[in-house]
Amino acid sequence: MLLINGKTTSEQIKSEIAQRVAEIKKEGGKIPHLAAILVGNDGASQTYVGAKVKSCQQVGFESTLVRLEETVTEEELLKAVADINENPEIDGLIVQLPLPKHISVEKVTNKIKPEKDVDGFTPSNVGRMTLGWPSYVAATPYGIVELLKRYDIETSGKHCVVIGRSHIVGSPMSILMARNEYPGNCTVTLTHSRTKNLPEITKTADILIVAIGKPEFVTAEMVKEGATVIDVGIHRIADESKKSGFRLIGDVKFDEVAAKASAITPVPGGVGPMTIASLLYNTLLAAEGKIYSK
Ligand code: NAP
Repeated sequence: MLLINGKTTSEQIKSEIAQRVAEIKKEGGKIPHLAAILVGNDGASQTYVGAKVKSCQQVGFESTLVRLEETVTEEELLKAVADINENPEIDGLIVQLPLPKHISVEKVTNKIKPEKDVDGFTPSNVGRMTLGWPSYVAATPYGIVELLKRYDIETSGKHCVVIGRSHIVGSPMSILMARNEYPGNCTVTLTHSRTKNLPEITKTADILIVAIGKPEFVTAEMVKEGATVIDVGIHRIADESKKSGFRLIGDVKFDEVAAKASAITPVPGGVGPMTIASLLYNTLLAAEGKIYSK
């Protein structure tokens, strides 16, 4: 069984990015700059944004964190996005989700200039990704594609089953796996909460990508012998034996599924670390004008 190590791979990608930043510096070019907008005091969001900012420092990027109160109006948030859109110093912008209920995620996402949308969430980038045009691909699906590539997982002609159809993971994942390129060329089945006979379907998957958001939902009997299993889920569960008082588990029952799979991502240390590496990579692409020319 091959353990697909996202931690090592993400460190490798970050070191490749850091190397490119060093070259840019030497050439006297502009250092990539990522801005993040964080609204409110949600603990998980603060942790995610903190990790993104820290990773920027690690690879030599500039970063700006704009913190806004939970009570910020939609208009004020749209203005903050517009300011960053117009700031030539900033190459990439992310608005950390979720947003407070009184703010329209659609309006805010749509306000981000596609050229700076390094999360790949705007209609323009989703449309371009779907058409197979150059685009920023959402960080989590992009990270998974990169893992499949770097671990040389054969995808052509395989049956890929995706569990979950969210806009940020399952849906783009299904499109990427069906593309006419590597990794891709799969026959894809996209499943969701209305899918009937889910285990019958998952048992036919050569590649099973799980983004359901339910702890240890996928068990050994749902998986075909020799499948590649990608676990996107992240859940904190109480564990008194840990100093932190919790541990992380995924959407897949790791031990029993690993015994059947030919390759599998662990949680933690699988898909999670790849998400930040992909965001940094998209920011580098933005700074160098590789998707939209400058
Ligand atoms: P989400 O928006 O909650 O979507 C979950 C999907 O699962 C929905 O499409 C839902 O179907 C489907 N589903 C729910 N119950 C089901 C069932 N019984 N059978 C089949 N499908 C079912 O989740 P998400 O944002 O994609 O995230 C999924 C997981 O990945 C979460 O644990 C999240 O924390 C994690 N995540 C991790 C990363 C990372 O960097 N590693 C990034 C993003 C998310 P309906 O559409 O019909 O409701």
